[in-house]
Amino acid sequence: MYCNKCGSPVNDSDEFCRKCGVRLKAESTKPIAPPVEEDASIGWGVLGFFFPVIGMALCLFWRDEHRKRSTMAGKGAAVVAVLETVVVAVYIIVYFISLIVLVTSPKIY
Ligand SMILES: [Zn+2]
Repeated sequence: MYCNKCGSPVNDSDEFCRKCGVRLKAESTKPIAPPVEEDASIGWGVLGFFFPVIGMALCLFWRDEHRKRSTMAGKGAAVVAVLETVVVAVYIIVYFISLIVLVTSPKIY
């Protein structure tokens, strides 16, 4: 490799340039660690699905630190919320339909 300042060849093991004395192993020469790829696995979504309260809690807790996990856990919890809303809506609809049928039908009991 070559010195960043004066361009003279230097050994990789050298800490300072032999010619100009500049520090070779500055922080800028360190390889920048690649951003850790978070596991946004479906597992967090499944967790949120089966434990929506935990999923919502994780969603809020990890909102800043682990955005992907937070999103997955939140999605799982959201799916449950939608499903429960649908189930309750269907239940209410069936309830009212049966009520209307009972009221409008001739008394056979
Ligand atoms: Zn140099």
